[in-house]
Amino acid sequence: MVVEPKAKGFICTTAHPVGCYENVEKQIQYAKKTGESYQCKREKEFKKVLVIGASTGYGLASRIAAAFTCKASTIGVMFERPAAGKRTATAGYYNTAAFDKLAKEAGLYTKSINGDAFSDEIKQEVIQAIKDDLGEVDLVIYSLASPRRTAPDGTTYVSTLKTVNEVFTTKSLNLNNNEITTATLEPATEEEIAGTVKVMGGEDWELWIDALKAAGVLAKDAVTVAYSYIGPELTYPIYYSGTIGQAKKHVLETAVKLNQKYDDLKAYVSVNKAVVTQSSSAIPAVPLYLSIMYKVMKEQNLHEGCIEQMVRLFDEKLLGDTVPVDEEGRIRLDDWEMKPEVQDAIMKTWEQVNTENVSKLCDIQGYWDDFFQMFGFRMPGVDYGADVEI
Ligand code: NAD
Repeated sequence: MVVEPKAKGFICTTAHPVGCYENVEKQIQYAKKTGESYQCKREKEFKKVLVIGASTGYGLASRIAAAFTCKASTIGVMFERPAAGKRTATAGYYNTAAFDKLAKEAGLYTKSINGDAFSDEIKQEVIQAIKDDLGEVDLVIYSLASPRRTAPDGTTYVSTLKTVNEVFTTKSLNLNNNEITTATLEPATEEEIAGTVKVMGGEDWELWIDALKAAGVLAKDAVTVAYSYIGPELTYPIYYSGTIGQAKKHVLETAVKLNQKYDDLKAYVSVNKAVVTQSSSAIPAVPLYLSIMYKVMKEQNLHEGCIEQMVRLFDEKLLGDTVPVDEEGRIRLDDWEMKPEVQDAIMKTWEQVNTENVSKLCDIQGYWDDFFQMFGFRMPGVDYGADVEI
């Protein structure tokens, strides 16, 4: 059938299998090309990598970087929906099918486990797969982003994108018509804050590491990395100081705890740059910030997407003899986004932007290209009029 995009706000309910394949292939080409040029600087390699949240955004790019710059065997975990009748599968489902095919063609071991990573069952299934096929893993990437989590005791927690203690009014981009509006956000209740920490905090990361350790499938001196974001003061009320920021503080505390608990493990938090992903598009003010940031960083030749960030994570941060971290022990991949010249230019535009000048001052086109490409649309060279097998 012919698959068309059906977008509403920050969601697209269809995905294009051929476009998703192209997107994964393009990321692989980048990782291969850039990875080769870095090779001589490497002090170590990862050979057996587990990526939790491996089908879209940063997790998919991490898996591609591990497989195609280190030639690592990878096990990926994701929660994606296959096609049913006329309903397409999710983009992450198609991405994973594409990754598996291309990795196998390149002679790389790959296994993808589709199910709820928060559950004990999936943790055990992954452990069994490691025992059967790899023996152990030397790198565990934790890249889950989810609106809810059912904990092992059966309680379901919901994550909320709200401020803490303050009402916050901000400029915002209406994704339905590209108008600049204002959005007012109410502070979260204690229960909402606690729920967000349960879903997006470090508890499940720690459960994964404990389970892998107990099963004896973590290599000696293994590394584990979870992802975080800080961003500019402009978005502090909704991000860094908001409910999601509380969860991210918990992720950082979990890294400290894991390092104290296990002598032969290094746990890191990597602070990545803001990019268009299914998760980030849902955060108020972030799409506007992103479209201004894209314009500024492209003009300054500093623009990066998920794959550029993740190749840099491997080549400049994780694979050297020492891993460079800030005063709080975090890897800073947001270093270019936070450059004063980038932030000053963003702030200037943020003050000026309105509905009339939005397309001139912001990279709205770039935002929407990235948004649709996440679902396999607007990929160059794909015939979107053709019938495809979904
Ligand atoms: P994303 O939505 O693109 O990917 C989320 C992944 O988690 C997908 O593979 C999905 O299948 C998987 N997933 C969700 N629920 C699951 C479940 N129950 N079981 C198994 N898999 C599940 O998200 P993203 O934006 O790439 O975010 C990944 C991490 O990076 C998050 O920690 C996020 O906070 C962080 N981060 C994102 C940005 C950004 O701008 N997008 C910036 C910095 C850091």
